[in-house]
Formats: sequence, structure tokens, C-alpha cells
Amino acid sequence: RPPFDVHAIRTDFPILQERVNGRQLVWFDNAATTQKPQSVIDRIAYFYAHENSNIHRAAHELAARATDAYEAARKKVTRFLGAASPEEIIFVRGTTEGINLIANTWGEQQIGKDDEIIVSHLEHHANIVPWQQLAARKGAKLRVIPVDDNGQVMLSEFSRLLNSRTRLVSVTQVSNALGTVVPVAQIIELAHQAGAKVLVDGAQSVSHIRVNVQALDADFFVFSGHKLFAPTGIGVVYGKRALLEEMPPWQGGGNMIADVSFERTVYQPPPARFEAGTGNIADAVGLGAAIDYIERIGIENIARYEHDLLVYATHGMQAIPGVRLVGTAQDKASVLSFVLAGYQTEQVGKALNEEGIAVRSGHHCAQPILRRFGLEATVRPSLAFYNTCEEVDRLVAVVARLATQRRGI
Ligand code: PMP
Repeated sequence: RPPFDVHAIRTDFPILQERVNGRQLVWFDNAATTQKPQSVIDRIAYFYAHENSNIHRAAHELAARATDAYEAARKKVTRFLGAASPEEIIFVRGTTEGINLIANTWGEQQIGKDDEIIVSHLEHHANIVPWQQLAARKGAKLRVIPVDDNGQVMLSEFSRLLNSRTRLVSVTQVSNALGTVVPVAQIIELAHQAGAKVLVDGAQSVSHIRVNVQALDADFFVFSGHKLFAPTGIGVVYGKRALLEEMPPWQGGGNMIADVSFERTVYQPPPARFEAGTGNIADAVGLGAAIDYIERIGIENIARYEHDLLVYATHGMQAIPGVRLVGTAQDKASVLSFVLAGYQTEQVGKALNEEGIAVRSGHHCAQPILRRFGLEATVRPSLAFYNTCEEVDRLVAVVARLATQRRGI
């Protein structure tokens, strides 16, 4: 086991030194967004201080620097995801925009009346609503893979849903609400046997587990930079080259064209075809720096450390009377969703905030899966590799105190 020095890692993240309500901040809202290492903050500042220019269009030194930095970031994403080439990597605003892009290009072209799109019961609203909208436009059907009482998708039910009308299966790799790690490799294999394409929502997976889109044989894969220690406003769509080449553009404008006249426009090949207008150049460069940072630590080392931390936190929370953990699948990452008897979730969130501990309470943009468990909201601490057992102890102590107060002990 290579050494994993969490205390050294923590010094890379300046915000972890913040004090909130007189206590050192505990950032347990990593599923909502992650904090940024100094190297990412510095890289963005360097871009604006030394490289800032629009890309591709002007033949001058700074345009060349900005273009090189932007395209270097695309290559880093290519390697990080195990994609075959940078032409398969499209920069977008985030996961939400990425899924909408696929729905409005591939989906618009390929989904017809009575075709079927399958999602799982675990999905974030970003992986439900665009498909509902598409299905309504096309007269297609949305089908849902049920989950078991542990919050894992039921593969046997999935097999039953697949049929000759299934055109797309769009599933998350890690649930943001429960932390379930979904067996996407098996889902992809089964879907392909039925002739369907598969989109994997990697918003919650890329920061916790090694992803290789070619090994998975995913047709599309999307993620958000801000959940991967990079800035907000930058994200990625991966698509197999053959699919992207057949897809029509979505937004029209500069950058995505090869030639424009009033009679007709010739589009660029991918990825430029899908990157209309001036993109988020600096933050794409920041995403490249975040990937460099993570690869220096090693995603496998991160996964191992986080697994141990999640097990530790799960044991701590389970031991508190009145705590109900929601999402108890065998394979989980980062997330510990729970409710506490006698308390509204906001009350728990507020009590934790008073102690400087940031967690999310609410529906986590995944109402269907919470309702599957008879709930409208949970408290959701979510861990990253810069969190520690001491921080978990602080969380457990506050929740245990609330539980004790409730019982009047
Ligand atoms: N899918 C999942 C699984 C998510 O966790 C999130 C973010 N909570 C999204 C999609 C949407 O990501 P974004 O808001 O960055 O577009």
C-alpha cells in the first residue's frame, strides 16, 4: 500500500482551514461540490495572468497559448477517462448540459414514436427530465429499473425491461442520494445485447472510482468538473467517435462551423461541432490541473482510503439509536444518507452547521429514489479523500447528542 498522507493532502486545500461558527470547517458536502486544491486555483490565475485569449481564431501568441492549454486539458480528460481520442471529448457546462446535449442531438435523431428509454429509479433529476421531455416530443416511453431495499438496481428486472424497442439506457454510475455503486458494466453488456446504446452519468463516480470508458464500452459518459476538484461551469461529454460523427449539432454559432453562407452551413467534425461559441476556456484548463492533481495521488489510493473512511462512518452512524441509514448496498461510495427519529432533516443540518459541519439536507435532486424509501428528504454527509476519521467523529458526536436529547437522557 503506498502511503496516503491525508494531513499533507489537506494542506493542498486552503478552504479546509476556514472556521465556521468558531470551529474548523468540516466539508461533508462533496456530493454537491468538491473543494479546490491550490494547484487548480493557481492554474486558473496563471491562465488569466499569462495566457488569456479566445482560442482557435486569431493567429497571435496568446491565442496559441490559450488554444494549447485548452487542447492539453482535452487530452488530460481523454487519458483520465480512457477514451480513444480527444475528438471524443466535448467540453460543456456540466453533467446537466451534457445529458441535455445528448437528448437534443442523438436523442432527437434516434428516438422515435413508441421507442423506449430506460433509466434507473436512482437517477438525479438531470437524468430524468431531459428524457421525459424527449419522450413527450417523440411519443416515446420512459421505463424505470426498480431498486431493492438496499438501494441497488435489480438487474433481473432490468433484463425484463429490455426489448427490441429499447433505444437507450441512461444510468448513473454512483447514486448522489444513496451512494450506491451501480454495476454499469453489466448494464452496458445487457443493453448492447438488446441493441440499445448506454449513457453513463459519471457525476458522482469520477472522483471516487477509476473509470475507463473503453473497458466499460460506454457509448456516452458525462461528468461535471466541479465534483472533481475543478471549477464550476465546466464539464465533459464523452461519446464514441462513430456516434458523435453521425450526430447533428445542437447549438449553432461560431466555432462549430466549417463554412457558412445564407444558403447553407457546413459543420465542423466533433468535438468542435458541439462546442458553439466561446467556451469556458480557463475552467477547462482548471479541470486539466485537477486531473493532474488527482492522478498524482492516484485514484486507486483515493478509492481505498475513502472506502475505509466510509466503513468507519457507517459503523459510527449505525451505532446511534434512532438513526436510519438509507442506502445499504454492498457496493457504495462516499455517501451516507440518513434520517434521525424525532427530527426534521433541516434541524439536523442546522445543528451540524452550528458545529461547523457542512452536510446537505433535502431531496438531493433525486425525489423518486427518496420516495421509494417513503421519504421526502434525508441528511446527506458525503465524503472525499481529504476528510478524516476525526471529522467523522465530530459528525457522529453531534448526531449522537441530538439523539440523546430527543430521548431526554
Ligand atoms: N447527476 C448526478 C448523479 C449528480 O449528482 C449531479 C449533481 N448533483 C448531476 C447529475 C448534475 O450535475 P450538475 O449540476 O453539475 O450539472
